[in-house]
Order: sequence, then C-alpha cells, then structure tokens
Amino acid sequence: MQDPPPDAAPPPVLLTFEGEYAKPDEKPFPLPQTCTWLGIFENTMPAQKEAWNEQDMNTAAILYPPRPADYANPSVCAEFLLSTLEFLCPPEKEEFAPPEGEIRDVLPYQPASNNARAEPFYLVTGLNRNVAHTLRSQPAWSTRVGTFFVLPNPVPIPSFAVSLKNLPCRPQQIGPLRTEIVQNLENNANFINMVTAGAIDNNIDDVDALIDATLKSVDIKHISLPRGDNATAGFENRWNVYMKCPVPAERHAGWIKMIQAIHFKAKWGTGTKADPMRCTYCSGTDHQRSICDYPAMANWLDTEDTAPQALPGQSIAPVIAALPTQSEGSGNKNRGYKGKRRNGQGRGKARN
Ligand SMILES: [Zn+2]
Repeated sequence: MQDPPPDAAPPPVLLTFEGEYAKPDEKPFPLPQTCTWLGIFENTMPAQKEAWNEQDMNTAAILYPPRPADYANPSVCAEFLLSTLEFLCPPEKEEFAPPEGEIRDVLPYQPASNNARAEPFYLVTGLNRNVAHTLRSQPAWSTRVGTFFVLPNPVPIPSFAVSLKNLPCRPQQIGPLRTEIVQNLENNANFINMVTAGAIDNNIDDVDALIDATLKSVDIKHISLPRGDNATAGFENRWNVYMKCPVPAERHAGWIKMIQAIHFKAKWGTGTKADPMRCTYCSGTDHQRSICDYPAMANWLDTEDTAPQALPGQSIAPVIAALPTQSEGSGNKNRGYKGKRRNGQGRGKARN
C-alpha cells in the first residue's frame, strides 16, 4: 500500500457515468474467484512490480477484460479497456485525467518466469479520483461496447478452496454435507496447524477463535458441470468449498494446497479434489465458462454474441469505434481509444 499523498485531497464522490452500462442487480455482482489476483503482486517482473507500486492508487484501478481468445493479446486488451472507459466516461463530459494534467497509462500485468499464458490484468493509472472511486463501487461493468471486471485494492484473498468430486449426495443434503466437511476440517491436524500458524503470522492471540471463525465461514456450493457438447454426456456433480483464508496472502498457495490434499470422508463417500477449473470468461477458478454466472445475468449487456471481436494482434479500437451507441444510433468515430497511452505500451510492460 502507498502512503497517502501529503496534501489530503477531498474524499472522492460517486459519479454517474455518461455511457450506457448495466447497473448491478439487486444482489451485487459476485466477485470472481481467481487466485491469479494474488499473483498480480507476488509473481510479477521486478520492473513491473516497481511501476505498479509507485502508482497513486487513488487515481488508478485494477481492471481486466473478459477473456475470450480474441483478447489474449495484451495490447488489444489495453486498448479495449481504455476504449470502454472512454465510452462510459467521455473525456469531454467528465474530467478524466487528474488535475495535474498527468496522462493516462496502462500497466499490464505479465506473469514472471516461464508462464507462457499471459493473464490480462491491467492497472489503469491517471484516472480522475472520482472515476477510480466509482469504478471500484462494483466488481463488473457491462456496456454495449464491452465489459470489464474491477478489482479492489488491496486485492482480496479468494475464498474458494477446493472443488470436491465423488460425493454423490443430493443438492437438498447440502446442510448435512457441510456439517461433515466442517468435521473433517476440525479433525485434520494439517488444517489446525496451518490456522495456528496463520494466527501467529497475523498477530492473533486467540487461536481457537480463529479456528472457529474459519470453520464458521465454510460455505458449500453445488455445481453441475455439463459433459460433452451441450451436456450430451450428462452432468458431473461437484461440491465447491469456500472459506475465509486464515493465513496471509503470501501463504495462500500453501493453504490451498493443504485443503486440496484432504480426503473428506462423509456418509456419501470420500470427497477428493477434482480437476482444476478456469473460467475463460471471468478468470474464476471455481467454475468453467459453460456455467459462468456473469453472462446469464439480466443486466449483462456484453454477451458472447455482442462482444467486440478482434483477431490476435489486431487493434480493437476501430472495432469499438465503429459500434453504434444507443444514444447516437450510429457509429461515432470519436468514441474509440485516442492513443493517449504513454510510450504506446505502458511503462510496466516487461523489459528484457
Ligand atoms: Zn466465469
């Protein structure tokens, strides 16, 4: 976390955006569950990390686009995000840049080491404080020209722990199943030891209270994964286990590894870790794209059918600029990304 600026700025206010976007449903958009969030800060090239860390988070937002294959190119994603932001918040209507006249920048997150799969997470900097504040007021923004997700800062630790297979009980029995899963956890020495270590790391004196709180937070969700094309091979039953992570973020990977190694004995069978999942839409690790909640929401404007398409390497700005907006009815060439990014690719891009 950054120190606050020496001259205290007035508190940011929530803005009403100019562009058309889907307001959240009565129950807020769910926060996608992805462990990659932690990787943003833990597994990043040193030069990138430095660039991220020196940003004023009051004028920045962590964004990522939905991730169909078309958006695999980081440059395409960066243009897509800025274009969507300008659609929501036209620079001529809202003061987009901070008063000092700094320009916007996009710092892409690229995983370190040999990870060939570029995860499209971006720090968009140089926003108006009110814009940054409003963006963080909901985890997902959906517009007719595109959709993106917003992460709070600091990035929250995902609560998803494991997806269990081999438990052929019925969804109506989720209560008794939860009881048995909690019993498995509280009788597991590795679980108790790791929560105890978490209490020490977090300077919590009452270890039992942390164990209780962790167990109380256990939430079970039933998911049914379609097999084959359009479930031609039926459905696979899974039980997703969520709970508060009692250890610091840097130990999250070890926590998950420990939970996933547990064999959960219940009267229906022994639940074990199922194959990992990754939603290619919202980057969540607790489901697959075929059952992703987001596109099914009533206020989701940007569906698979309407999302702008660009080929890898192709700029998406002209694609977005050519889309008709509801208020204008026809394409507006001024809507697209206008090339204000510093150095074209952003300072945070990996350098070798
Ligand atoms: Zn998803």
